[in-house]
Amino acid sequence: MDVVKGREVLRRILREINGRGYGNYKALKGQYSLGRFVLTVDHVQPDPFAPGSSMRVSVGLRDSGIPPHCYSSRIRRIALCDFLARRFHRGAVCHSRQRGTGRSGQIAIPRPGQEVLQRSSVVIKGEYIEVRFTMGLPARGRSIDAYQAEEMFLKDLPEIVEGSLFYENLSAHHLSAHIAVTEDAEHLRGVLDSHGLVAFVADGAVLPRASGVEDTPLKGDRVVPFQSPPSMRVRLTLPNRGEITGMGIPRGVTLIIGGGYHGKSTLLRAIERGIYNHIPGDGREFVVTRKDAVKIRAEDGRRIEKVDISPFITNIPFGEDTSSFSTDNASGSTSQAANIMEALEIGTGLLLIDEDTSATNFMIRDQRMQRLLPKRFEPITPFIDRVRALYRDLGVSTILVLGGSGEYFDVADRVVCMIQYRPEDMTREAKDISRACGGDRPLVETSFGGFRMRVPLRESLDPSRGKKTVKVAGKGLNRIVFGRYEIDLSCVEQIVDPCQCNAIAHAMVLSISFMDGRTPLRGVIERTMQRIEQEGLDILSLTPTGGFAEFRGLELASAINRLRSFRVKQTDG
Ligand code: ADP
Ligand code: MG
Repeated sequence: MDVVKGREVLRRILREINGRGYGNYKALKGQYSLGRFVLTVDHVQPDPFAPGSSMRVSVGLRDSGIPPHCYSSRIRRIALCDFLARRFHRGAVCHSRQRGTGRSGQIAIPRPGQEVLQRSSVVIKGEYIEVRFTMGLPARGRSIDAYQAEEMFLKDLPEIVEGSLFYENLSAHHLSAHIAVTEDAEHLRGVLDSHGLVAFVADGAVLPRASGVEDTPLKGDRVVPFQSPPSMRVRLTLPNRGEITGMGIPRGVTLIIGGGYHGKSTLLRAIERGIYNHIPGDGREFVVTRKDAVKIRAEDGRRIEKVDISPFITNIPFGEDTSSFSTDNASGSTSQAANIMEALEIGTGLLLIDEDTSATNFMIRDQRMQRLLPKRFEPITPFIDRVRALYRDLGVSTILVLGGSGEYFDVADRVVCMIQYRPEDMTREAKDISRACGGDRPLVETSFGGFRMRVPLRESLDPSRGKKTVKVAGKGLNRIVFGRYEIDLSCVEQIVDPCQCNAIAHAMVLSISFMDGRTPLRGVIERTMQRIEQEGLDILSLTPTGGFAEFRGLELASAINRLRSFRVKQTDG
């Protein structure tokens, strides 16, 4: 494996195995020097219908001609690799075609979306850029078609590599914009807190998306670019772009109101995604949110394992203890309460809630209902009676989209009204109304209180299936196969890339090693994330793979919490 062979050796091997059984492709395993890059064949697929063979190419950073300032900091390296992944992907798509049975002829790396993410498909390792990709080795029926293979290895692959990894063939302008925008967005997120902000939405940002299933920006003359209300406009300075203005959302409780179809959910969704950096041209490049923001929603049917939901729900029928609440089939309100408590358990400074995906009885209980149903028959303390304590006692801010209940005026620090996609600051008007109706809502001034932490029991996570000790994978954007279980992540809305989902599946396995029967879930997550931070995403697999992308500990916890076999013991928090 260590001997680097030349182009002629590769050609000779291919010619020798031509026409023979597919298994003979295994002879290709090894390293080849192909001019300006080195190819490593790590794993050969067993048949033409199996997932493509795993390979890597590496190019010396110096040889690539990419100027050192493009990789002189962590965030620049992330942006550079993300850019190269996009170019390599484009080249691979152009050169892929059906060249026989099954996957014959395909060259692939995962398609990057609108976010600039750290990905395992393109990494800088020491003095080299390394790209991990797969290739469907060509076959006629089940016999090796070496002539097609020769063309793929010796013509197509070099063209892709030349076109995507060498500076002379890249657009210097696009590369430097990619890096500058990413660096600016990262900087912006970093200074939010020191300006007392939890989120920032730049003037001129384009928030709406092309469609419900397409994450690219909406185009055309009906797009209304974002404009901050003057009273909320802040001016900040970015390292590359210089001065920028936009709406600063301060800590505390912010309400987004307005009529139906006026852009409330679109604004909140952009804020949710503001935990990520976006590619130039996305429209949300400078919409940034504090890193630990969590979208909270109702998710009936999910499993809940011994979560302390007592701050929101007490006295449920049959006297069940809600400080240690478990169910295989949560209701709208209990799932929303659990989603909040689980986010607090891992650590968050900002909750994002949309009426469209909330349980009404969790959000509000109005005067008349309070009068008809005294507290002792209503197990729920609605969010409206907790949202201030969350901020006052735990420092957790909330941004809430709510068109239907003015009672929230009483508890909001700021009220933004969307009118035809334009935000207006209506705080004063809302407060006037709130005062005029004065004292209507008996304010619950109890403190949020502590809540119980949970210690995961490692036996409850079993990644094995059949003869395999570890059988886990992400399936698309919101499903994980973990041993004999399937985890549904379709309500974990801040997972944006299938490679994140796949990485989370493997990180779950890593996290088991930190479950010692004493460490709370939060500690387990922290240690797992620290390990990945130190060693890189490669720690998640035995052989190098291009199938991972960075993710947060919050989403890792979300996946563990939704594993139906997951069990914990509680401790006092
Ligand atoms: P709401 O939550 O207030 O009911 P949505 O955010 O769902 O409204 O937006 C309604 C529609 O308007 C969506 O189709 C969305 O894509 C579109 N939209 C949102 N913001 C804008 C904008 N700034 N410019 C143009 N269209 C927009
Ligand atoms: Mg909406």
